[in-house]
Amino acid sequence: MARTAIRRRLTWRLATVAANASEARAVHRLSLRIDGWDGHLPGQHVDVRLTAPDGYQAQRSYSIASAPESPTVDLVVQRLDDGEVSPYLTDGLRPGDQLELRGPIGGYFVWHAELDSPLQLVAGSSGVAPFLAMLDHHAAAASGAPVRLLYSARSLDDVIGERRRRPRRQHLNAFAAARRRPTWPSR
Ligand SMILES: Cc1cc2nc3c(=O)[nH]c(=O)nc-3n(C[C@H](O)[C@H](O)[C@H](O)COP(=O)(O)OP(=O)(O)OC[C@H]3O[C@@H](n4cnc5c(N)ncnc54)[C@H](O)[C@@H]3O)c2cc1C
Repeated sequence: MARTAIRRRLTWRLATVAANASEARAVHRLSLRIDGWDGHLPGQHVDVRLTAPDGYQAQRSYSIASAPESPTVDLVVQRLDDGEVSPYLTDGLRPGDQLELRGPIGGYFVWHAELDSPLQLVAGSSGVAPFLAMLDHHAAAASGAPVRLLYSARSLDDVIGERRRRPRRQHLNAFAAARRRPTWPSR
């Protein structure tokens, strides 16, 4: 990869919040517009950096949850009530706000539509975020690759991507949201 391309990915740049919408219980989808975004592969992530007025900085990584075909770069953020960064991303950001971001980062955990072998995805909770990018890309590219997502969430209210996945259910072999039993059977 050209050195300038790598430098560009690792350079902090401004992203503008286009939307911040609830996606599931305690989970928001942040849709970002980023000038000069060169595109990404499903499975890559970005680093987000926040700076307080006193100069203190906090940095966290988030998987890109939108397909390369999307006009926005979307992040699916789960709010940890005692977390430092995620409550601000889910509850503090409004459309038009800006934050610092760098990426896309990562090249091993990616999938693109030219790969036509079967795709088995296994995720729990917000770990499904990169798979949403893969599923949307799979649909947008009309991929013929068989895809199966096994997904676990604490309850149906916690299922991320439920509304987005519904229209294309026919493209998926399976999607399982496992409810946690009140008590696990003991032996
Ligand atoms: C590659 C990558 C991709 C990711 N993708 C996503 C994604 O798509 N969506 C998503 O929601 N998250 C994702 N994450 C996780 C994300 O980066 C953050 O870790 C997450 O949002 C929590 O950050 P926070 O600042 O809110 O919580 P933090 O402040 O980091 O705290 C996290 C937890 O640790 C506890 N804690 C903090 N400090 C201590 C301490 N000193 N001792 C004991 N406990 C402590 C806190 O109480 C809290 O429960 C990803 C992480 C990586 C590495």
